[in-house]
Amino acid sequence: MTMHHDSLKTLAARLAAREISARELCEHTLARIAQHNPALNAYITETSDHARAAADASDARRSKGEARSPLDGIPMAHKDIFCTQGVRTTAGSKMLEHFIPSYDAGIVENLAAAGAVMTGKVSMDEFAMGSSNERSAFGAVKNPWQHEHVPGGSSGASAAVVAARLVPYATGSDTGGSIRQPAAWCGITGIKPTYGTLSRWGMIAYASSLDQAGAFAVSAEDLALILNGMAGHDPRDSTSSAQTRTRFDDELNQPLAGIRIGLPRNYFRDLNPAMADTIHAAAALYEKLGATLVDIDLAYSDAAIATYYIIASAEASSNLSRYDGARYGHRSAQAKTLQDMYRKSRSEAFGDEVKRRILIGTYALSAGYYDAYYEQARRARHAILNGYKAAFAEVDVILCPTTPTPAFKIGSKIDDPVAMFLGDLYTVSVNLAGLPGLSLPAGFIDDLPVGCQLIGPHFSEPRLLNLAHQFQQASDYHLQVPAAYQ
Ligand code: GLN
Repeated sequence: MTMHHDSLKTLAARLAAREISARELCEHTLARIAQHNPALNAYITETSDHARAAADASDARRSKGEARSPLDGIPMAHKDIFCTQGVRTTAGSKMLEHFIPSYDAGIVENLAAAGAVMTGKVSMDEFAMGSSNERSAFGAVKNPWQHEHVPGGSSGASAAVVAARLVPYATGSDTGGSIRQPAAWCGITGIKPTYGTLSRWGMIAYASSLDQAGAFAVSAEDLALILNGMAGHDPRDSTSSAQTRTRFDDELNQPLAGIRIGLPRNYFRDLNPAMADTIHAAAALYEKLGATLVDIDLAYSDAAIATYYIIASAEASSNLSRYDGARYGHRSAQAKTLQDMYRKSRSEAFGDEVKRRILIGTYALSAGYYDAYYEQARRARHAILNGYKAAFAEVDVILCPTTPTPAFKIGSKIDDPVAMFLGDLYTVSVNLAGLPGLSLPAGFIDDLPVGCQLIGPHFSEPRLLNLAHQFQQASDYHLQVPAAYQ
């Protein structure tokens, strides 16, 4: 039986037909995790008992004809940024190494209500700061295509477990690319919905005006079913949109005739030729499917990296002030005074990248520098949003690379933070503008997967999912499985 090669949609149909049980699927999945996780180092916490109990409950519901959704009985993994009641939630940090939340995050609650079978919590760059998953306090995660390469980050392990076909889907969060970039580097599909679409309640904060939850799956069609189960207005998150839709699969199978796809000229100027060829080939396939290609300019996009790293670091420095040794997480055993406890607890438990962001953010917000940095970044953010608005007056969706290059080797950029930041060139402006973005597999360069990115106007997720689905009906990049995980 090759249950791990089935799409989520196929698994749902097999469960509905009672051809397989949720418990059988669960055991198959747990066996694959036991076999392959040691090489990937993806899981921080495995929840096998929890998974078996959830699978049995799902089978009991199904035998009474009470299955809750297509996700009922399907195994999955949560990024370790989402609080899970009674299950350790670390955010990839030593600070929260022993933190056991007393409640579930909003999306965890929604997925559990839909019947999801959680197999565990998977690794990430500490507090979601990073682009390679090398910054996890629990060790680097491997790219399933080539173990000496990074899977991307910060949701690198979420992408790795789906690409390795350990679970059919995983959750993630995306503040500046953390879903789209690892999806691209692991050869799977990932979506960051419009800001406010999925609840941030119980999602450990990095930069609150940019953070958004989302998901990874093999295909866009599966992602639509997953978003159906994750979404819903949440009054506990003040930025949760009242317009949030609950159906994401209702535009799948729309023809592409008449759709205008914008290609930002400035994104191709310095792009490496192999990557440019890949994106142009994707564009050509869209043209064949009936879409019209339009060259566009994205105003102010060259300011995106600087703007993002000021705003994200400023918000991070404020959000992370709550980890003081008094309330959450690690408390230094060496401290003699209160000040000492704050200082030592934070110095001992935060990793270098988190410290760097807190220092940059505190500096950018400090008296005298606020106007020069934070205020300028706020203005640039507005200009970037207006640039997108002008583009969407001309086109329905934007097609561009997800990343400038394929995945790099573990260790090769760890000492060069600026090089690491520059890799986020094509993803961060989407968060600054609060737009939905999706990465889908578009080919391979040197046997490593690369993705292309679709960006749409606010709340256009169904359109993006349909565009990706049409592409995936006409291509098979997303169906390739790394050799070691067949
Ligand atoms: N690489 C970016 C950063 O380090 C994005 C991370 C994210 O989206 N969480 O900030």
